[in-house]
Amino acid sequence: MTSAPLQAIRGTRDIWGTEIRLWQYLEQHARDILGRANYQEIRTPLFEATELFQRGIGEGTDIVSKEMYTFTDRGERSLTLRPEGTAGVVRSLIEHKRLSQGVQRCWYQGAMFRYERPQAGRQRQFHQLGVEVFGSEDPRVDVEVMAVALEFLQALGIPNLTLELNSVGDPADRQRYKAALVEYLTPYAADLDPDSQVRLTKNPLRILDSKDPATQAILRTAPLLPQYLGKAAQQHFEQVQEGLQALGLAYELNPRLVRGLDYYTRTAFEITTQDLGAQSAVGGGGRYDHLVEELGGTATPAVGWAMGLERLVVLLQKQGEPPAPELDIYVVSQGAGTATLSLQISQMLRGHGLRVEMDVSQSSLGKQIKRADKLGSKACVIVGETEVTTGQIPVKWLATGVQEIVTFPNGFRDATFWQKNFR
Ligand code: ATP
Ligand code: MG
Repeated sequence: MTSAPLQAIRGTRDIWGTEIRLWQYLEQHARDILGRANYQEIRTPLFEATELFQRGIGEGTDIVSKEMYTFTDRGERSLTLRPEGTAGVVRSLIEHKRLSQGVQRCWYQGAMFRYERPQAGRQRQFHQLGVEVFGSEDPRVDVEVMAVALEFLQALGIPNLTLELNSVGDPADRQRYKAALVEYLTPYAADLDPDSQVRLTKNPLRILDSKDPATQAILRTAPLLPQYLGKAAQQHFEQVQEGLQALGLAYELNPRLVRGLDYYTRTAFEITTQDLGAQSAVGGGGRYDHLVEELGGTATPAVGWAMGLERLVVLLQKQGEPPAPELDIYVVSQGAGTATLSLQISQMLRGHGLRVEMDVSQSSLGKQIKRADKLGSKACVIVGETEVTTGQIPVKWLATGVQEIVTFPNGFRDATFWQKNFR
């Protein structure tokens, strides 16, 4: 009896082949750009106590109410695969008492998990790159994180990006706005889409996010958040815009932009592109001055963003594939005593920093050399039975067909010879 072949779970995918090089490139690029701004990488666990996300993201959000991968472990604890990175980073900084040590600039990268309907640009396991800066209310920090995000994207050569900006105010401002919005929407309640009807009592701000045309039409004449900003939030918002202008960074005010998470205050932004179809958000972020308190730490202002790496990979693929790393040497062998020698030679050559692959097919030398050609190897080291006794090993340059003899072991120890031929 044969069983059906196993497949990757719906909403997850394997990353390999030419695509993996884009990921490696993205990761290296993130380290470079974020390192230049002196952000420190942090790696937090893939799962945390469920309560962390309930408190840190908010019960009224889509993520907590319907997207979390929550399970009970063998010790009866309720755990959740992280749906986003911020809550874990905050938990970590509180736990390690880093928030009393001045401004902390962090970045992270890794897999996130959300139970969503899989479609282009939307998976159940996906990857985010994010930054968080803790310990300053200074609008320059809001500007810095946005500038770093844009620099990261622009240096990747991604065109047609728009920075959308809003301020969601301080909690009291938002409270007044919420009341006004609910008052405005209540007479239309029956005409709203079903999700928005639920949100009207649970999380009215999220109604602004609705993509339903009827709801959108009703929202067209709704009150707007920026009209409700208090003095402090208003001033902060103006300073953020002045900072962006001073750096020559273009932005568009979007008074309907709200972030999906409850803990955001003041600055909210999203970076979008028309090149991704329906899932137009490359990333988003904002200020969350009350999250640390919410999670039991000393009140600490903070601002950050997260980007979806799958969406970036799609954008990068439009620019073509990055070149594959070239194979330097393919070691072929056939006959008695050649197995050990081919192992030793491969090891020595890798020691010189060369990219080396050892053929283990035991097919004919001719076939093995053909394989070297196919792999695009620069050279081929040919180990046959005679060579085991003589120690005179042919090295064939595949582009020219020229062959030269290298003596084992001394010739293979000669780093200068190998490096001058390959670098
Ligand atoms: P969206 O409106 O697209 O659902 P979101 O508000 O849920 O986005 P955030 O929580 O702010 O997104 O996450 C930041 C970024 O992570 C998004 O802008 C997007 O690029 C990416 N992202 C979010 N959810 C997914 C997913 N399920 N699959 C792939 N990428 C995602
Ligand atoms: Mg979402």
